[in-house]
Amino acid sequence: MRRMAIIAHGGAGADPAKTANIQSAVDAGGRSLAQGASALEVAVMVCAALEDDPAFNAGTGSVTRQDGSVLVDASVQTGDGQMGFVVSMPETPNPVRVAAALIDEGVNGLAGMGARAWADERGFPRADVIPRPPDDAKSGDTVGAIALDSQGRIAIATSTGGCSDRPPGRVGDVPLPGCGFWAESGIAVAATGIGEAITREMLCFRVHDQISRKDKTMPEAFKSAISTRFDEETDVGLIGINEAGATHAHANTNMPWASWTSD
Ligand code: ASP
Repeated sequence: MRRMAIIAHGGAGADPAKTANIQSAVDAGGRSLAQGASALEVAVMVCAALEDDPAFNAGTGSVTRQDGSVLVDASVQTGDGQMGFVVSMPETPNPVRVAAALIDEGVNGLAGMGARAWADERGFPRADVIPRPPDDAKSGDTVGAIALDSQGRIAIATSTGGCSDRPPGRVGDVPLPGCGFWAESGIAVAATGIGEAITREMLCFRVHDQISRKDKTMPEAFKSAISTRFDEETDVGLIGINEAGATHAHANTNMPWASWTSD
């Protein structure tokens, strides 16, 4: 059987103590992979578990925008080119599940009230998302997960309440293809950190391209992109998996993360 793998992060700039929360979500994902679940199911499952954990800035636990609102972003992509993403959704504790449902639709992404109305029609729970306490609101701790299943399929799921102190309607990297996530040719990469800087660099597509062209290994590509394209004050982190089941994580700051492999 092929090697299966999962890697997940809890955000660039987040408290390393949150590693235990991530490990527990990843281990549960590993049990599901071992029982035959698909990479897509498991990436979404791990991401949703972290959305449900109020320690993270995603789903429940999201930071507030400048007007006090809580608006969430999420994205899902599979290595065979399917994707779904939602932007600035109100009242949605598990936006990653809505993003995953978009994979089977004719549109890739939905934003704001349109996204919420679409989710209402399909029965995705509408509920207040409990915001982070204000004294904790500066931390990044967004979430993201990548899974590789026994059939070699790869999938990414990411979710965030966005960076704090941003206006309602702000679009970060998490729902933007190539910026906060990219999966193709058996290689998947997800980013975390200051979304504006990540988007300007189209970070995930950039490093994915270097790895898939074999210009750099995954560790080399992560390290060089983060050190050469971002200043030290800009928190940035990356996680990735390749088709052989090798996982890698790198950041220029604390970034709790955890992985699981089948061997
Ligand atoms: N990248 C996310 C955003 O800018 C935040 C984070 O990863 O901490 O919305």
